[in-house]
Amino acid sequence: MAVMILNAARISGHNWYFSVVAVGVGVVLFLLTSFSDPGTVTAENVSQYLAAYPYDNIIYAEKECSTCKITKWCHNCSAFHSLIGVALICRPARSKHCSICDRCVARFDHHCGWMNNCIGEKNTRYFIAFLLWHILICLYGAIFLGLILAGQLKERKVIYILTVYYGIENSFSGLFPHVVQWFLGSYNTQILLTVFLVVVAMLLAGFFGYHVHLCLTNTTTNETFKWQDYISWKKKLNEAKASAVALKASTHAVNRDGKSPLSKWKVCCRRAPPQQSEEEVIKNNVYDQGVVSNIYEILVPLSERRSLSHLKSL
Ligand SMILES: [Zn+2]
Ligand SMILES: [Zn+2]
Repeated sequence: MAVMILNAARISGHNWYFSVVAVGVGVVLFLLTSFSDPGTVTAENVSQYLAAYPYDNIIYAEKECSTCKITKWCHNCSAFHSLIGVALICRPARSKHCSICDRCVARFDHHCGWMNNCIGEKNTRYFIAFLLWHILICLYGAIFLGLILAGQLKERKVIYILTVYYGIENSFSGLFPHVVQWFLGSYNTQILLTVFLVVVAMLLAGFFGYHVHLCLTNTTTNETFKWQDYISWKKKLNEAKASAVALKASTHAVNRDGKSPLSKWKVCCRRAPPQQSEEEVIKNNVYDQGVVSNIYEILVPLSERRSLSHLKSL
């Protein structure tokens, strides 16, 4: 990055300032993602989160966190009362207890080791912005270095020298290997940095694309695993049900035809016909409210909206 900035300064003063702003914004986004509250569930705001994220009773059912404790939760009337002893905190839907941070985080996505923070309801927007900004910075650096190298090629009349020195015609296929060789010999650091920036940009773009998909479908990384488990369990359940029906039907047939009892065991071990176990398992994500609402939910988290703010500190 330092080489890039120095090269940028050599070409134009504007690019120097732009590089400083680009790095500065990147640092600010890192600090926001890393040090801001991801949406920690506490005794003071749990009612707000419970109202914001209703249980879908598919992948989320009412459950207490076995670790987080509060002192004001009343189990009988589901409301907050003055001290009735230490109780476990009721975990709102979409939240998860992060074992690394030792806290429940609302709309938990994942714990990011790079940021040393959970990615949750309140900092997903900074995290996505961080990814996008660094993709742009890497592409900017790669393109800028490419332009600098192209400028050097022209300034030093490398093409002319190579055609004369090797006695080859001025064609792309003839010159390409010699130009690459010259670049690697003269600007190996810049070439390495360009390749590094392109690779990092591609990796970040893949990660960014995944998170944009999650954002548009109002799903979290944590929920992706939960849905996989649910669909797998549901398919097995359907298979088991279909097998039970097939077994019952076959047993009836055996009893009616008076065949040997041994055939019953064969029936037991036989898998159900595919058409009976292929009942479609539908992913009914109740939190998906359409693309526009889903994006708005990332930009302005539900718990920060005025309609729910009155529930704070109840
Ligand atoms: Zn917890
Ligand atoms: Zn965490």
